Amino acid sequence: MCRRRQSSNRQLGANSQKSAKIVALTGLSPGLRIIVTTRYPHLLSALDLGSLQLANRVVMPSMHTRLETLDHSVERRIAFYTARARGGVGLIVTAGYSPNQEGRLEEDAQVFESAGQIPEHLPVTRAVRDAGAAMLLQILHAGRYAKHDQLVAPSPLRSPINRRTPRELSEADIERTLGDYLRTSELAREAGYAGIEIMGSEGYLITQFTAPRSNQRQDCWGGSLENRCRFAVEIVKRIRARLGDDFIIGYRISTLDLVEDGLVGEDINHLARAIEAAGANMLVTGIGWHESPVPTIAYQVPRAAWSFTAARLKRVVGIPVVATNRINTPEVAEALLARGDADLVALARPLLADPAFVAKALADDAVAIAPCIACNQACLDYIFAERAATCLVNPGAGREVEFAAMPSGKQKSIAVVGAGPGGLAAASVAAEHGHRVVLFESANEIGGQLNLAKRIPGKREFLELLRYFRVRLNRAGVTLRLGERADAPVLAAGQFDHVIVATGAIARRPAIAGIDLPLVAGYRDIIEGRRVAGRRVAIIGTGGIAHDVAEFLLETNLDQTAGEFMDEWGVDAAITVAGGLRSASRPQVGREVTLLQRGEGRPGVRLGMTTGWILRSRLKARDVGFVTGCRYDHIDAGGLHYRAGGESHCARVDTIIVCAGQEKDDSLSDELKRAGIACTAIGGARLAAELDATRAIDEGTRLACSL
Ligand code: NAP
Ligand code: SF4
Repeated sequence: MCRRRQSSNRQLGANSQKSAKIVALTGLSPGLRIIVTTRYPHLLSALDLGSLQLANRVVMPSMHTRLETLDHSVERRIAFYTARARGGVGLIVTAGYSPNQEGRLEEDAQVFESAGQIPEHLPVTRAVRDAGAAMLLQILHAGRYAKHDQLVAPSPLRSPINRRTPRELSEADIERTLGDYLRTSELAREAGYAGIEIMGSEGYLITQFTAPRSNQRQDCWGGSLENRCRFAVEIVKRIRARLGDDFIIGYRISTLDLVEDGLVGEDINHLARAIEAAGANMLVTGIGWHESPVPTIAYQVPRAAWSFTAARLKRVVGIPVVATNRINTPEVAEALLARGDADLVALARPLLADPAFVAKALADDAVAIAPCIACNQACLDYIFAERAATCLVNPGAGREVEFAAMPSGKQKSIAVVGAGPGGLAAASVAAEHGHRVVLFESANEIGGQLNLAKRIPGKREFLELLRYFRVRLNRAGVTLRLGERADAPVLAAGQFDHVIVATGAIARRPAIAGIDLPLVAGYRDIIEGRRVAGRRVAIIGTGGIAHDVAEFLLETNLDQTAGEFMDEWGVDAAITVAGGLRSASRPQVGREVTLLQRGEGRPGVRLGMTTGWILRSRLKARDVGFVTGCRYDHIDAGGLHYRAGGESHCARVDTIIVCAGQEKDDSLSDELKRAGIACTAIGGARLAAELDATRAIDEGTRLACSL
């Protein structure tokens, strides 16, 4: 094992000497080897995994997408994975397949337990191989995270994120489960996979064995560290013994549990060495359990913040180590590989956003990469809402078959009015489909509400989204008319075949007596800096924008460093404390902020499932107050008067900020219809309710594809 790594390191050393002039060979197109110069010598260098040669250091790790359980799953997975393989990824790991019924994630989740299921896999592995990449099947046993009644675990301890209590596995059950891992591995080989990845992180069954938090057994599978690691080690050992040396075994190891009674660093080192000795070919790092109170992948996490855990691991094992989480540009990936933190990088969501990430890096065209902005809005949040994953930035992700089938009509002349996310998507896609496109924007810059988002602490990735759209508009030849308000006469003069109205929504101004007083401000004025809020602030509304405004008022640090993030969330980067959790630092705040809503429900209930809790937790740590079930009475110089709980109250504040939702602005559509100009409204101009960038971009893309 060590020998293999030394040879790959030699390769890296040689490559780095060649610096920007390096010549890289890639598996980008099967049968065709492209020679290019690159500024990412480490990222784009080959790696020898023994029986598998990888063309570069990018792994597409396992992702829940639900593609496995949808109709036409084989066709959809072929399209999804081959798009990423053609885009230059060398190694792709499937979504997690359970080795038996007990281990499936939910009632209808995928299991791979019989030869009869091989036809569901073989066409996919063949197509991916033909497209130039290798595939590993991930084996994932959910243990106590399973959302069905057959759930099992090392001990009958309920997870805080599951209402069901697991049945304790008997020793015979454990032996049977080990056999199931073995059977699924054998089936994986027959189904054309180059190997398997064992999911041993994120709080699933294997981590439930390794951590005292969830393992209270007294037999040889619990108690001492060696006993708790036995299940993981036996899986790898038995698979290696049965399937031989040419079968790749990846192991996803929890390098930081981020839960109480998790492992300390020394325990993780012990486990990693044992997994290596058992015969694994590579270790993929996994951060945090799903029940962890620390964000691990959302936009609030600084880029590559967890690469230190990969670096720790590299010091104790000889096999290649894969760094994960919030690695979303070739620069970030290259830097961490060059530092020697890891041998490979896992790009999951970045490959949803752009299947051609590697190809663009290779062509030294990183500016054209569609960025993953770590919003989770259309990937993880969709999965939790029992929808198939896609991507805010790339609505075609996971829907490759559907989008490929969209017809391109004859060339037309198209006007798009409004350069917010919907208008930007519509204009770019229409122009890329060969239409002549003029994009009108009344402001002096593109972006619409994206320009507000980019000013919110932690949301700097929105700058990347703007960069990406700028490049697309430019390359597709869209004529951009900034600072110009398009009305019916302007659009009639342009003789367009069709007008896309993407003028967005307008902020609602509730009819509260005193709303026009000077202490009341709109959220745009605050975020864009035209108004400065006082020390005591009331915010009308508790939705997404109200939470963002509260963040804006309470946090001056736009870009947290990894160290600041660890302090805020109480992460012990030395992992000397079990689970790597220590007490969090108390943020300094210079304002008192209260958010109010009329509804009785939990404030911010419609925020993203996987990011809303982070926002709520940050605001709670900053002592933000919430008032629910209020009836606004009036505003005067003394503040905001309202009734709640049958009593009258006054929020004595210096500034009241209105974040009371959006209303659609269809005035242009009405004007155009009256003038007989063909038009279609999208995004907020069509429907303001539940508007977000995902819907706007999706509608803009679909409309442009259908012109
Ligand atoms: P929103 O999420 O729909 O929230 C609107 C808020 O205004 C609610 O709290 C609502 O509470 C209140 N409200 C509605 N009508 C009102 C009225 N007539 N008088 C007083 N209060 C009223 O809308 P938003 O905050 O404008 O966000 C717009 C969209 O952007 C949302 O769909 C959201 O998904 C998205 N967004 C999300 C995030 C995020 O997830 N972090 C950030 C920014 C934007 P009551 O009706 O109970 O009073
Ligand atoms: Fe990234 Fe957001 Fe797309 Fe998910 S939806 S892949 S987080 S940009």
